[in-house]
Amino acid sequence: MDITGTHIWYYFICQREVWLMIHHIAPDEDDENLDIGRFISEHSYTRNKREIVIGNIKIDRIRKEGKQLVIGEVKKSSSYINSARFQLLHYLNTLKKMGIEAKGELLFPEERKKEIVEWTEEAKKELEQAMENIRRIARMPIPPAPKKISFCRKCAYREYCWAEE
Ligand code: SF4
Repeated sequence: MDITGTHIWYYFICQREVWLMIHHIAPDEDDENLDIGRFISEHSYTRNKREIVIGNIKIDRIRKEGKQLVIGEVKKSSSYINSARFQLLHYLNTLKKMGIEAKGELLFPEERKKEIVEWTEEAKKELEQAMENIRRIARMPIPPAPKKISFCRKCAYREYCWAEE
């Protein structure tokens, strides 16, 4: 199974959602938050023609800092920073497998914030653990039970998870 940046992003928010996405369970068609993929775009700056596609990853920014290649992911808010960190780490790891060494930076222009994300053996192990867990979640015959989190309010699956409330 191909694990995408979107799977990784959601893994750090809601593991049930990861299962629902992987099993192509359609979210509520009338939900204004419809489209799980779109959520990431809404929390990123508009992906435009400057976006660079390398293999199956899409990079917002790429630049050189001396001899160091720096890839950037631009987000509107740091609310889901851990998801963003691992999404970027996944890109760095994918590039590394292609023989491309890079450093990452998360950019939050509205908050005037920037965070450097570097590939390290330790970070790679954490990423691989998350990916292994995503594969395990995918193999589960039923989704993990819902857990009420603040994200549920804007989740397109909220009717599916909490219709009886
Ligand atoms: S509504 Fe909440 S529990 Fe259900 S998938 Fe969305 S975030 Fe997860």
